[in-house]
Amino acid sequence: MKERPPFPARLDFLAGKPKGNRPAPGHAHSAPSQVAKPLGSVLSQGVGLDSSAVRMNMVKKLAGQGVTDALVLSAMGSIERHRFVDSALVNQAYEDTSLPIGLGQTISKPGVVARMAELLRQGTAGKLGRVLEIGTGCGYQAAVLSLLAHEVYSIERLRGLHDKARDNLRHLRLANLHLLFGDGMAGYAKGAPYVAIIAAAGGEAVPQAWIDQLAVGGRLVAPVSAGSTAAGQQALVVIDKTPQGLRQTVLEAVHFVPLKSGVA
Ligand code: SAH
Repeated sequence: MKERPPFPARLDFLAGKPKGNRPAPGHAHSAPSQVAKPLGSVLSQGVGLDSSAVRMNMVKKLAGQGVTDALVLSAMGSIERHRFVDSALVNQAYEDTSLPIGLGQTISKPGVVARMAELLRQGTAGKLGRVLEIGTGCGYQAAVLSLLAHEVYSIERLRGLHDKARDNLRHLRLANLHLLFGDGMAGYAKGAPYVAIIAAAGGEAVPQAWIDQLAVGGRLVAPVSAGSTAAGQQALVVIDKTPQGLRQTVLEAVHFVPLKSGVA
């Protein structure tokens, strides 16, 4: 078996170039060097250069966790998550963990982003049509979604994060991603109906506006506080809008930041 690269890259590599990652003589184009380039050093050199190897490792783990949708895995493999977190956290960017993004909010775990995206895409052959995301945050999930859908509307209630997402996303020039500032509890009627709605923040119930804005045949995936369990416990809820009515499925426990009303 090949030796695994150091993972996660250590923060102390941020300081300078790594030593000893020159390929051994005679192996220049074959086996990867024994000491893979740590992400921190790569990023301190300015561009994403080699972060793809670390990202592929993340994708492998997602597949190992049961994500099978090839489009989702490919989108997770192409969006550079390290560009959406503060520089002090880049060394953790490809771990399956949520990370702070400022204003008390967090970027979702890659495993959860992939899981929710896969749920949204279930039964869809090609790309999704129009998608609404509530809770842009740093913009990471919005970027992933933009590779899976023809049109994505993403709404954020905190001005600071809405601005941050715009900055984070600029380099990708995603013409099909529309960032909106506002209270997502009301959805975004102008873009409706949506074939998929995804919430990155959990409330006590799914707002009626989201159901109204969901197309017939569409699917909504959101964390919802489970009434019967202890306060703060959330579960992932899937709502399918069928011609016969709504069908709700409650899935595994999750932990998302709270869905709040109003803007700030
Ligand atoms: N998808 C994001 C996750 C951000 S965390 C990412 O990839 O980074 C969830 C976000 O939902 C927070 O930024 C929070 O401010 C936002 N949020 C909470 N309630 C909201 C509401 N009513 N409307 C819009 N955004 C909301």
